[in-house]
Amino acid sequence: MPTTSHSTWHVITLLAIALFTLGCEPRPVFSPNSSTHRVTELPAASADQEALVQFSLLAALAADDYTGGPPLTDVAAAGDFGIGTFNNLDGEMIVLDGEIYQAVADGAVRPADLDGTTPFAAVTFFKEDGRIDNFNAATLTDLDEQLDRKLPRRNSPYAIRIDGEFAELTLRSVPAQTPPFRPLVEVVKDQVTWQHHNLRGTLIGIRCPEWMSEVNVSGYHWHFLSDDQKTGGHVLACTFQDASLRFDECTSVVIHIPTSSEFDNFSTDQVSDQDIEKIERQRSTDQDPK
Ligand SMILES: [Zn+2]
Repeated sequence: MPTTSHSTWHVITLLAIALFTLGCEPRPVFSPNSSTHRVTELPAASADQEALVQFSLLAALAADDYTGGPPLTDVAAAGDFGIGTFNNLDGEMIVLDGEIYQAVADGAVRPADLDGTTPFAAVTFFKEDGRIDNFNAATLTDLDEQLDRKLPRRNSPYAIRIDGEFAELTLRSVPAQTPPFRPLVEVVKDQVTWQHHNLRGTLIGIRCPEWMSEVNVSGYHWHFLSDDQKTGGHVLACTFQDASLRFDECTSVVIHIPTSSEFDNFSTDQVSDQDIEKIERQRSTDQDPK
């Protein structure tokens, strides 16, 4: 058919031109040293600085994946502010001003050994996007509800830092676990809690929107470190006045996926939303009536 013939001729012509071109022109040579082929290197302070970087998933932690994981040096390289836990759930992780602190179940707080590992952590580089001075909260729930109204975006993750004097504070930590591991929802029944009054320090908060509930606690997760770095833990209740609140909006989320056999055999059916609620959002009923 004429059309076919025309098309066939057209293709042959193009092939001939292509072969002629390749035959006459030297092929471009790409090598790492070639001055004509440069890889543009991203500047160090690019997108990752604004990312919430998460190591493992909360659901994996809730499925007894407590050991190994990335070294704490990876956490330190991914952010200077955040929260997490340690190998075998040995205490609460507090990342503040680039230092990693470990609040263990006997009440001590110490600089973490960077040779250690973490089964779960979430960090970012804290860069202030906004602040609220003279901030008051009657309870932890009151704090969360105020932030829901005041933070600019409902569906973005945030890092939140609150510095001040805490009139009432209830903290917890959990003891290190040994195999065979029990579910996290059982482990937190062994948590040790402490009450403090009029203590100066910093709340370190990560807020994850509802759509992140498969990978982290949706809502707010608070840890605390005192100014003298001797007291810290996961916050179950607090009351404060005249604090300074700063927030950092995270524009992306990076998740480092665990490679352990526990996670490989893990199914999301193993963990209910109620379990995650009990594990991370359990709050003191005496101070926080909701
Ligand atoms: Zn916590």
